[in-house]
Amino acid sequence: MRSITTLELQYAHRFYGFLGEAMYLHGHTGILTIEVEDDVTPKVNMVYPCNEIKKVAWDILRNFDHALVLREDDPLLPAILNVYDQQGIRNGHALNSMKGEAFRTPLATAYPDCRLVVTKESMTVEGMIKIVYDLLKDKLPIAKLTFSSGVNKASQCYEVKKHLDKCPICGVALDKNGKCPKCGWRKK
Ligand SMILES: [Zn+2]
Ligand SMILES: [Zn+2]
Repeated sequence: MRSITTLELQYAHRFYGFLGEAMYLHGHTGILTIEVEDDVTPKVNMVYPCNEIKKVAWDILRNFDHALVLREDDPLLPAILNVYDQQGIRNGHALNSMKGEAFRTPLATAYPDCRLVVTKESMTVEGMIKIVYDLLKDKLPIAKLTFSSGVNKASQCYEVKKHLDKCPICGVALDKNGKCPKCGWRKK
């Protein structure tokens, strides 16, 4: 069965080199739907608690929230960093506290101190699904991702191979030592 959760991300981006309105900087509320597939944990009676899926995803994906997403070759990138430098906000600000953990994958690099994500490809809805899968595939048994942004929407299904070792009390995945990160239960 599947547990399904959604989260919202508000971001600005543009498609550098694209012929259309999206060549201009603009913003969206993007909606990401994550479908996680596994056996239903007996007694807990869930595949995976949705608030826990959200927590795992949000820890990383908040890098995209209230953020600017630009392709690595976009000339806006040095221009904007220059302005942030002049303002003294490029390397962080006391009020920029809702930050995610910095990440670097072959598809994207997050700079939480200036709420910027630099991508290899344009961040279309399809591009975002590739980035998100790369970031979350080792943390959750993802069966499907759907991302919508304005009137655009894309989805991708994945084959789920591994079955999770989950806590019989909380239903969340055990860490590599067989311990529940939430309640401390240990597998014997
Ligand atoms: Zn857009
Ligand atoms: Zn537990």
